[in-house]
Amino acid sequence: MNWIAVLLLPGACAAGAGPDAAEAASGEAEKRPALTEPGVVLTFDDTFVSQWVAAMPLFEKCGAHATFFVTGFDELTPEQVAGLQRLRQAGHAVGCHGLRHRKAVEYTEQHSLDAYLRDDVTPAVALMDAAGLHPTSFAYPCSNNNEATDAALLERFRHLRTGAYPTEGERIAQLDAIFTPINAVAARGCFAGRSMDRAGEPGHEDGIAQVTEALDRALEKRELVVLYSHNIGTENRNHILPGSLEQILAHAKRIGLRFYTFDDLP
Ligand SMILES: [Zn+2]
Repeated sequence: MNWIAVLLLPGACAAGAGPDAAEAASGEAEKRPALTEPGVVLTFDDTFVSQWVAAMPLFEKCGAHATFFVTGFDELTPEQVAGLQRLRQAGHAVGCHGLRHRKAVEYTEQHSLDAYLRDDVTPAVALMDAAGLHPTSFAYPCSNNNEATDAALLERFRHLRTGAYPTEGERIAQLDAIFTPINAVAARGCFAGRSMDRAGEPGHEDGIAQVTEALDRALEKRELVVLYSHNIGTENRNHILPGSLEQILAHAKRIGLRFYTFDDLP
């Protein structure tokens, strides 16, 4: 699908950032005030920087900001680092996704928790800090976490993100693990999210409807909902098409659901 087609899809966002854009663009690292409005945290993982940057106009058109969790920071090109800096300057958050995408619990069991932090977390944060990215949040590779890894990582990060999986036949909107009442957000360190990968594509035909139902629930019950994907494009199995993402962003904007990044959360 090309960009012209994407921009003409029904349900597309009107041009111009929403009222939340300027507010969210101030993304500093310090703790934020408690939430007063329900919202959605959209997150994207791994190293798809050029595709994330290419989607910036789409986010801007919908007044949306997202959190991009980057891994393999020592192997990024200067262009990719500059892309992450551009995302952050535009009000998106850039979080840490480990240096070598190691599974936290698995590596801890094979070595130790200290070794995990030393080998996969500390060096990634140091490189990101040096690039001015100052991650306040961390997403677990392969959603591999437990209480011990959470406690250790919350010493360094304000928030963590893992994954949650529906049982057979359960819809995303029924997956309580990914919803947090807004008055409970400040007390939560680790948030679970649900995948939006390949929403609307074969095998996931009702994926967009499931996500928009989840957005509706968050608004109705005054909750924060967390969702994740990877690439914004077709290059990887784990991706969402720009047109599918636009339908999701447009729905959130239409119903008046706020977009938060992890940097925005208390
Ligand atoms: Zn990953």
